[in-house]
Amino acid sequence: MAESLSILQSSYSSCFIDAHSHLTDEVFDKDIADVIAEAQRIGVKAALVVSENEAQFNKVISLADRFPEFVLPCLGVHPVQDIENVAAILERHHERLGAVGEIGLDFTPRFCKADDDKTTQKLVFTQQVQLAQKYDLPINVHSRSAGRPTIALLKELGASRVLMHAFDGKPSVALDGVRAGFYFSIPPSIVRSQQKDKLVSQLPLENIILETDSPALGPVKEERNVPANVTISCDYIATVKKIDPKEVRLITTQNAIKLFPKLVKFFAK
Ligand SMILES: [Zn+2]
Repeated sequence: MAESLSILQSSYSSCFIDAHSHLTDEVFDKDIADVIAEAQRIGVKAALVVSENEAQFNKVISLADRFPEFVLPCLGVHPVQDIENVAAILERHHERLGAVGEIGLDFTPRFCKADDDKTTQKLVFTQQVQLAQKYDLPINVHSRSAGRPTIALLKELGASRVLMHAFDGKPSVALDGVRAGFYFSIPPSIVRSQQKDKLVSQLPLENIILETDSPALGPVKEERNVPANVTISCDYIATVKKIDPKEVRLITTQNAIKLFPKLVKFFAK
């Protein structure tokens, strides 16, 4: 991997990766080609497109078929979902997937009404982590109001190739993930949450990746977010860490390629 990274550096040094997005959302149905073209113009080389439930699986795969030079598909369900067919679908598609995701734990009242909801979520999450391990795939992880239990469970399961997206837990809990080798992706909504400055300043750049979570988590609340906005995350991280945005771009892209080796194909030419 080290060798392929050094060969590639010239080709990826001016590129961004969006490591977590929902480009199959219906708000993109009309102009997805323009949204992708705009991202490519500013240097976004690829976006990992995740699913949240089985109903989205076909759309993720079709989008990857339609934009093979930009979309790296990920399949998974979260937080409490029926996973009966997930194993069979991952078996069918695992060779082309960038990761299993998004998967995770969400302990906000919206998704967690009864106490056994937590148990069910952990079970569904565990099964998908194990499927990722079976196919040697990284995982793209959601956690909300569940930072500590998510990281604890991942460590217990021996998961090592982990992206924690839009992490809302304490920096001290995140650093526990860093010690386990996990990566954390920062969305553009960071600009409206000064509270997250602490997280960004404490996370080593070597563990940070860029994401947008488009169409959610944009710089302006309620406004549609797009992959081109990874630059906003990049610039903000650079400001907090008092370093050059170019360094943030280079290291986060390098981190993304390390965690998601299938990104290499986007730099092939
Ligand atoms: Zn998401």
